[in-house]
Amino acid sequence: MLRVGLTGGIGAGKSTVARRLIERGAHLADADAIAREVVAPGEPALAEIADRFGGGVIAADGTLDRAALGAIVFRDEAARRDLEAITHPRIAERTSQIAASTPDGAVFVHDMPLLVEKDLASSYHLVVVVHADEQIRVQRVIARGSTEQDARARIAAQADDEARRDAADVWLENHGDEEDLRAEVDRLWDERLVPFAHNLWHRTRVRRPERVELVTDPTWAATGVRLAARVAAALRERALRVDHIGSTAVPGLAAKDVIDLQVAVRSLDDADAPDFIEALARAGYPRVAGVDADHPKDEQDWPKRFHGGCDPGQVVHVHVREVGSPGWVWALRFRDWLRADGAGRGDYEALKRRIAADETRWARYPEAKEPWFDAVHPRVLAWAEETGWQPPAAGE
Ligand code: ADP
Repeated sequence: MLRVGLTGGIGAGKSTVARRLIERGAHLADADAIAREVVAPGEPALAEIADRFGGGVIAADGTLDRAALGAIVFRDEAARRDLEAITHPRIAERTSQIAASTPDGAVFVHDMPLLVEKDLASSYHLVVVVHADEQIRVQRVIARGSTEQDARARIAAQADDEARRDAADVWLENHGDEEDLRAEVDRLWDERLVPFAHNLWHRTRVRRPERVELVTDPTWAATGVRLAARVAAALRERALRVDHIGSTAVPGLAAKDVIDLQVAVRSLDDADAPDFIEALARAGYPRVAGVDADHPKDEQDWPKRFHGGCDPGQVVHVHVREVGSPGWVWALRFRDWLRADGAGRGDYEALKRRIAADETRWARYPEAKEPWFDAVHPRVLAWAEETGWQPPAAGE
């Protein structure tokens, strides 16, 4: 099942998006609604809250007096932690139940206002952020019955747009009317969520297009950070570190729109363990059989394992290499050299453009670059020597 995190600032249109996703077939866990459900009359959490905070937090009709409870936990950190110790496990359990009841191949959406604030982006396959400018959000919240002061105070207490942007795999602008928003959601559903869920279920990776298109994208760096964190979270102690490598990790360099990640393992035996392969596949990166080495000329093969991403909206290649091995070091050193050396970057881009312009070489794009890599190797080594470059430590 595809796990989608849905978030956005108050008034951005998150609930409107969630409603449309349900209409299209998504299974939804609404974090706010669940937080209310677990403290409804008759629920054990409500009795525990009354025990801990006294009868003053229960209204005359037996429901939770949120204002009274809020006034206590607002100024008392220990009280807030006690409250969370009562409610959080139940919220988590209810959310997991909904996720677990979502069929294989289907789409589970977690409507989670505090996704960014709580740093949860790595626990989803995809994060969708709904966005509208502050002025529009204030107007929408006022139209729903708040005062302007209240609306602005709530917005100020939430994550800012920049933090949301870094967490977003999908950024939905909600500046038109609701019809426009629904059309955007439908496109997202048809073109990305449904095929992603299908690929995940069938363990099908998405290939880059045959035709090599060189582009630049200022969001690649943030995407690399986000996807590396997701892969690291999926593999936990099985990965020593995960790095964004390749051309998309070099700001300003034109490249194919492919995010290359490198997972460092102690030994390739670890990478061949069934639970390693399973963990990456469940995270959306199935193993691709038969891609087991890089082939530098005049040297022994550099063994690796290879996984491809399932998201039709972003091609991802995951190279698994032994920490400290020549192939692992090479990828990091070459990336850092390109980041540091403007002339090197220019030469590399010129090479890529020559290959991309030559139809006969498209299909063999990686191989076509090999002679240049060999030729440039002494330059990269000299740079590393000069600058005292060292590969990063395993646990960083
Ligand atoms: P959130 O869940 O992010 O707080 P909602 O989806 O509840 O936001 O939207 C806030 C309010 O704005 C709702 O009353 C909703 O109907 C309205 N709204 C949402 N999107 C639009 C839009 N594109 N045009 C007009 N009103 C909208």
